Amino acid sequence: MKVLLVDDSLVDRMIVESFLQDLGHEVIIGENGQEAVELYKQCQPDLVLMDEVMPIMKGREAAKCIRDLEDNWTPIIFLSACFSADDIAAGIKAGGDDYLAKPVEQKILAAKMQAMQRISAMRQKLLTVSKELERANEELKHLVDVDGLTGLSNRRYIDRFLKHEIARCARSRQTMAVIMCDIDYFKKYNDSYGHMRGDDCLKTVAGALKSFTRRATDLAGRYGGEEFLVILIGLDPQDVMARAEILRKGIIDLNIPHKQSNVSHCVTLSVGAYIGVPEVETTAAELLQYADKALYAAKEGGRNQVRLSADSMPEAFPDPLADS
Ligand code: GH3
Ligand code: MG
Ligand code: MG
Repeated sequence: MKVLLVDDSLVDRMIVESFLQDLGHEVIIGENGQEAVELYKQCQPDLVLMDEVMPIMKGREAAKCIRDLEDNWTPIIFLSACFSADDIAAGIKAGGDDYLAKPVEQKILAAKMQAMQRISAMRQKLLTVSKELERANEELKHLVDVDGLTGLSNRRYIDRFLKHEIARCARSRQTMAVIMCDIDYFKKYNDSYGHMRGDDCLKTVAGALKSFTRRATDLAGRYGGEEFLVILIGLDPQDVMARAEILRKGIIDLNIPHKQSNVSHCVTLSVGAYIGVPEVETTAAELLQYADKALYAAKEGGRNQVRLSADSMPEAFPDPLADS
């Protein structure tokens, strides 16, 4: 162990130092409380052995400073010729963990060091385990929000995100675009290529959607089955429609063969977009319903196309007279 030994008496110091060295410990020496605090900061010892009565700063005061400094517990053992019940109580209250009477006996010192080392090791183990648990917890928290197949946000996260963004955009009067995308004739895709290839197709489409939402405020999620949701914040309707169109074309550019599709030789998307500035009382379900209606219109209109929701709020559109 790396031991910080602090004592103003040279003789006492030398005796304890040699005991500690005999026991195989590395020793750092200080001569008063102030030095103890400084050396503690510099050297991060595993244990502090400290005289109580010292000039400049007493042991108890130094122990208090050390306890205030540390975010990790280091055992502190006081060495003192004053060994009354009150002395011991005050030393422990100040942050000490044990008390050793001077003159120090090597056997007792060795036993106390061993006990502290044991507690310290156990504590270290507990810290490691709790850090691992924390990490596992974070991972779990992340996993419950992620769709297992595609790695996109799942519906649970989408719902939470929508709720949060509605409140935020209502406050800041920003637009929210909710874009619902559905793969065309996906049942036929599964029928002709099998469910496994169907899964691969979902993953590829998800990857394209993910790369489409690169701004920190954007979100791409899997809403369910072969339905995906893209949420874009703070764009005007023209930009939203342009980006939805880029998205639709991006899926065609993936060129995933779909021989049974009625609209193309490859996999295509139908897209329904809603854009508006939400009010505080707007619900996620409302926005989803608007986007879904627009998606339905895209399907009815022949698929492989983008439709804007008729419910999109007029105040989300720039005032045509504003620039004139
Ligand atoms: P439309 O153009 O009207 O959207 O037709 P569609 O066939 O795409 O729509 P429908 O809702 O009839 O069928 C969706 C299909 O998506 C059926 C279902 O088996 C498939 N599907 C849903 N989830 C998964 C999945 O995780 N993996 C695979 N491979 N298929 C899925
Ligand atoms: Mg579909
Ligand atoms: Mg569907």
